[in-house]
Amino acid sequence: MSTLRFHAVKESLNRRPLTVDETKRRSEVFGSNVFNETTMRQYLTKDALKSIMEAIDKGSKIDRVLADHISTAMKEWAISKGATHYTHWFQPLTGATAEKHDAFFETIGDGLAIEKFGGSQLVQQEPDASSFPHGGIRNTFEARGYTAWDPTSPAFIYGTTLCIPTVFVSYTGEALDYKTPLLRALHAVDKAAVAVCKYFDKNVRKVNASLGWEQEYFLIDNALATSRPDIVLTGRTLLGHSPAKGQQLDDHYFGTIPARAMAYMRDLENECMLLGIPVKTRHNEVAPNQFELAPIFEEANLAVDHNSLLMDVMQKVAQRHNFKVLMHEKPFAGVNGSGKHNNWSLSTDTGINLLSPGKTPMSNLQFLTFFINTIKAVQTYEELLRAAIASESNDHRLGANEAPPAIISVFIGAQLTKVLEELESVTKGKLSPQEKTDLKLNVVGKIPEILLDNTDRNRTSPFAFTGNKFEFRAVGSKANCANPMTVLNTIVAKQLIDFKAEVDVLIDEKSMKKDDAIFNILREYIKTSKAILFEGNGYSEAWEKEAKKRGLSNNKTTPEALKVKVSKETIALFENLGVMNPVEVQARYEIEMEEYILHVQIESRVIGDIARNHVVPTAVRYQNILIENVTGLKAIYGDKFKDLAQEQLELIEQISKHIEAINSLVTKMIDVRKKLNKENNLEKKANGYCKKVKPFFEEIRYHSDKLELMIDDELWPLTKYRELLFTR
Ligand code: ADP
Ligand code: MG
Repeated sequence: MSTLRFHAVKESLNRRPLTVDETKRRSEVFGSNVFNETTMRQYLTKDALKSIMEAIDKGSKIDRVLADHISTAMKEWAISKGATHYTHWFQPLTGATAEKHDAFFETIGDGLAIEKFGGSQLVQQEPDASSFPHGGIRNTFEARGYTAWDPTSPAFIYGTTLCIPTVFVSYTGEALDYKTPLLRALHAVDKAAVAVCKYFDKNVRKVNASLGWEQEYFLIDNALATSRPDIVLTGRTLLGHSPAKGQQLDDHYFGTIPARAMAYMRDLENECMLLGIPVKTRHNEVAPNQFELAPIFEEANLAVDHNSLLMDVMQKVAQRHNFKVLMHEKPFAGVNGSGKHNNWSLSTDTGINLLSPGKTPMSNLQFLTFFINTIKAVQTYEELLRAAIASESNDHRLGANEAPPAIISVFIGAQLTKVLEELESVTKGKLSPQEKTDLKLNVVGKIPEILLDNTDRNRTSPFAFTGNKFEFRAVGSKANCANPMTVLNTIVAKQLIDFKAEVDVLIDEKSMKKDDAIFNILREYIKTSKAILFEGNGYSEAWEKEAKKRGLSNNKTTPEALKVKVSKETIALFENLGVMNPVEVQARYEIEMEEYILHVQIESRVIGDIARNHVVPTAVRYQNILIENVTGLKAIYGDKFKDLAQEQLELIEQISKHIEAINSLVTKMIDVRKKLNKENNLEKKANGYCKKVKPFFEEIRYHSDKLELMIDDELWPLTKYRELLFTR
């Protein structure tokens, strides 16, 4: 009997839901571990508070004296809450979060000690960061980068550590993290959007990008998950036959949340409340043991930090409940994978959501301006947007004909499609007063405040307009949202700059009225953006053909998808908008390609090992039992044994064939890997891993899964899909 598997199953059956203390109201505990405005009011002088608020709103610098005051206040507050350490908390290009804890504790001689946290420790730190990926930006012998305080994301206490959100940059000023380019992109979109807003409202001073992510994940019993070497090492199952029942009955989606999962969610939500992460929605997802968690949306930088923090908190809380959270985009074959929808919008400091239809024709023209410009941006940069969500793990969703597909398209719903059709027939040049009135009354004025047909029709478009925001659905569940958010905000910024320039030409050189000019440019945009609009659902071969005709990219694998990241146009785009310089762009490309190679390499090793160390020996053992049985039958029945042992003989042969296939496939795969590892060209190596190593996975799996069905359940060593997916 396979001890580890059955031990794990037994353990998982004895679990009981934990009780979670929910006596305190959420509104009372919300943000109590965050150094937020309310706390700052208690701990800071007026000057310090003013300076920090200005740094948040306008990006102004905080001087050293005030920084000392702020750090002391932070320390006092943190110690009063039980913190003993502090850390600069940042997001290196591994996608995870990084921290290095230092104690407040310091000795001052004569056997005395104090708690200290000075302004310089708040503002800047130098982590020994030589082993973070940097894509050649830093010379490794001069492995120096520093972290610098980002006051726009408030400090928080996690466990007993005061965490200070920071950017991570090299001494030559290049960004070594995800946050720095994001902040620059947010600045770019702010400036560009404010300039366009001035056509409609002179009072607008700031435009914020907002982000509301929806985190999907699998929750698997810890004993079961850790009994599988593939889950432990790669975050997904590399082998395993589909269970007799999967998700075809749709009985999990929005069903009652299982008791243990519910206790976990409550506990997790409590932690989120303390940390100021405004989580609001929880529900079952489509696949068994798949769930989703979503917050109220926030300013994009903060939302990105909160999602990164959340992913960490999710794992930590899971330990208490004997769960393992699988964030991988496709942990199980045959059932749905996980995504992280990025709901995105722009809103002004005057309180207007620019992607929400308004009450008046003029506010609707503003809405249409931002709506159409976003579509145009996606049309122009669809390939770059695809690249922003490319990863080895997300390829299993996007490249595998799942929904959403690798083709980026925009869904806008029937009502808005009609509006665009009408706008498309607007006269070229100056509009007659009659036409303008007609437009304002019957087209622009008729957009209802709530776009009903948008809310729930299409669940699988990669980029959908959902009433008052766009929903970028192709983002992977494991991803750091900073990457897609940097690209989206950059391309929209670029598009808004172009739009403003074009409108201004019509106003200044063709002496057109402002709204005539806007109608004229929008009309052209509608014409040129049609290829990206698609109302269909998910993936189909027909759509694949149609998209090709339309000239849309369909990059199914990460190495193909990433190429555009270093095209001349992309490099110029990021450079001109001040988001990333060419070195930073190139570095990210190299890191992502290398990461791709490493992931495939690890998976390939793991699948080879499991096939040889678990599957084949089990097959041999079972085959021996069969042989013993056949020999026994022969001893008893003589020549008649062949009739009696037909099935056994057949099985013995089949098992031999599968064993042979697995062994030769693994050997071949290792040979290909060995050759590729000598390859110095990054593209060639990544493509080789993609096109020559990865295909072995499916083949090896095929034979292993066949064996799983044949072999005595008592002997099978790998915890089965039904146990992983249906243990509650
Ligand atoms: P679902 O997509 O599951 O039907 P909703 O569309 O209601 O759920 O909301 C999903 C997410 O969209 C939530 O996280 C919500 O906070 C976010 N959201 C709502 N309005 C905006 C907005 N203006 N900007 C960004 N995110 C938003
Ligand atoms: Mg959604």
